[in-house]
Amino acid sequence: MSLRPNASETRNTVDVLIVGAGPAGLMGAYALAKAGVCVRIIEKRATRVAVGHADGLQPRTMESYGLLDRVMKEGNQLRTAAFYNPNPNKPGEIQLSERVPFFKPNMLDPRYDFGVTLHQGAIEQIFLDNMQDMDLQVDRSTIPIAIEVNENSVSDPDAHPVTIKNVDSSETEVVHAKYVVGADGAHSWIRRNVQIPVDESSTPYVWGVVDLVPETDFPDFRNWAGIRSDSGSCMIIPRERDMIRIYVQLEGQNAIDATKEAADGSKVKMGPEWILDVARKTLYPFTIVPKSFEWSSIYTIAQGVASRYSVRDRVFIAGDACHTHSPKAGQGMNASINDTYNLAWKLVWVLRGWSNRTLLKTYEFERRQYALDLIAFDKKLAKLISEKTHNESNVNGAMRTAYMSMIQKSTEFSSGIGVHYLPSDIVDIKNQGLASGIVIGKRMPPGTVVRLLDFCPIHIHDLLPSDTRFKILVFAGNASSSAQRMRLQQLAVKIGNLRSLLGLDILPGNSSQSGLDVLTILSTKLELALFKELPLKLRSHWSKVYVDYIDTNPGTDHIQVYQNYGIGVDGILVVVRPDGYVGAIATIDDFEHIKHYFSSFLETPK
Ligand SMILES: Cc1cc2nc3c(=O)[nH]c(=O)nc-3n(C[C@H](O)[C@H](O)[C@H](O)COP(=O)(O)OP(=O)(O)OC[C@H]3O[C@@H](n4cnc5c(N)ncnc54)[C@H](O)[C@@H]3O)c2cc1C
Repeated sequence: MSLRPNASETRNTVDVLIVGAGPAGLMGAYALAKAGVCVRIIEKRATRVAVGHADGLQPRTMESYGLLDRVMKEGNQLRTAAFYNPNPNKPGEIQLSERVPFFKPNMLDPRYDFGVTLHQGAIEQIFLDNMQDMDLQVDRSTIPIAIEVNENSVSDPDAHPVTIKNVDSSETEVVHAKYVVGADGAHSWIRRNVQIPVDESSTPYVWGVVDLVPETDFPDFRNWAGIRSDSGSCMIIPRERDMIRIYVQLEGQNAIDATKEAADGSKVKMGPEWILDVARKTLYPFTIVPKSFEWSSIYTIAQGVASRYSVRDRVFIAGDACHTHSPKAGQGMNASINDTYNLAWKLVWVLRGWSNRTLLKTYEFERRQYALDLIAFDKKLAKLISEKTHNESNVNGAMRTAYMSMIQKSTEFSSGIGVHYLPSDIVDIKNQGLASGIVIGKRMPPGTVVRLLDFCPIHIHDLLPSDTRFKILVFAGNASSSAQRMRLQQLAVKIGNLRSLLGLDILPGNSSQSGLDVLTILSTKLELALFKELPLKLRSHWSKVYVDYIDTNPGTDHIQVYQNYGIGVDGILVVVRPDGYVGAIATIDDFEHIKHYFSSFLETPK
């Protein structure tokens, strides 16, 4: 793997070239740069998105990508959903039906049981600032004009088989890349030029969206509000800086006007006032007056998924280049960020020569299935939201129930927490029965443990940063029993031998160049003196040992995490992938299973 070039070095031979600096491209560039990969990112636009576009981060995205502090500071929290429906006693008016938590906390067990709204440009800026700290900038006003994959060298790990010709505003250059990621949006140039078809269909629904600062008597303008009236549907989403976003369904002549072509061939876009006027009819008897407008748009909904996500596992596509759907469920930016989040660590492992290239196949396997599930979900949701509400059966509760219950039932999926990767080389479900509360293929569930040597409570997810390392969580059970300590001694010897299998220095603490971290979580509190009785491999640093014991919090169950995860007193081993998803589980005595797991995708040491 080459070192990342700095500004003064040539950038015409790179490990990874990313095309497109939207959320997907920036997530990929940030993650790869952080891992020390030689990455370059080009972008057609001269500046980042300034206003509008995507506006929401779901709980799983907030858990996963490690830049949450700023999102929380700049964004707006979304905790309550309010549903409004036609008032049967006052024709033409709406009334509140119900207020519920935005994400049902008991059902989905998220670390964050709320969403955050913040416009896409602000989220892009967070990535850009973090990239800047690593001396990586987006090459703007630059587009690819030709791409070629050299079939003769695709299987050579050291080759740069992809050649791309780029044009910036002044000149043409040739870039040789080991891998190319097309994160260039719904009309992806990369996708078209490597001939990946998309199975896409458009829907009859036309929607308008407007961002504004309102003056209103509508009571739920600072909550997510789903409104169905005799005049149509709309959605209100509270935003940062006193703003709200209104999505409004456009019908009949309005919809046709909104999308028809003007005499000169350009689309006629109805302005924000016009969209707001349609919303006003839906919101009646409540009133809304704009203090200022920030952005507006009109769109029809198309839904589709690319037939493949890669060509020869050398050119990949990600984000909207792979999937398009309605923005109603607030998924596009999240899905896009999570695509490159899934791909980046796999590229790092292959580029470092640690994994064979079959690992890259799991990107399409995992993320395409997710996209298919997303489109199925989106089709149901878009139909329910867009269907007319005028007739009796819609007003008397039947439709209302379907709409509200769909939103409620889908929280596990729409929060991202429900993403469940199917069995593959990196998802081995053989020992699922060992821990009822941990699902292999889903993200590690949340929980808090206490660091043994300083009694500091730590969230499990904070032990699993996205640093490209696999984590082996040794749930070591009750190590105050000598029999259990004996089992742990034997385990430590086997963990030591894993070093020769991986060919890596696997236990040196927190180096980002190591492939694995081992963390020990005991089911009982040990006296401090006993820390030293644990085998060295299970306590490579003072910060690597935790207890599931909360005596600072009276009334709390003493072995909360073990209970919630369904782990018995004998303990287990849990392999967590670099992206936080559970890859495998084994008993303490069955380290062979863990070795088998790694050997299915690791490069054998030379
Ligand atoms: C009104 C609206 C509301 C939305 N609301 C939400 C929401 O609430 N939550 C959510 O998650 N998603 C939402 N989305 C969807 C979200 O905006 C997209 O899904 C997301 O931006 C996709 O990210 P991406 O990086 O894949 O693509 P994009 O954001 O489209 O980025 C692609 C980038 O590639 C660049 N590019 C294109 N072609 C080339 C080329 N040839 N060469 C170089 N660069 C190129 C583009 O300029 C762009 O910067 C919304 C979208 C819209 C329009």
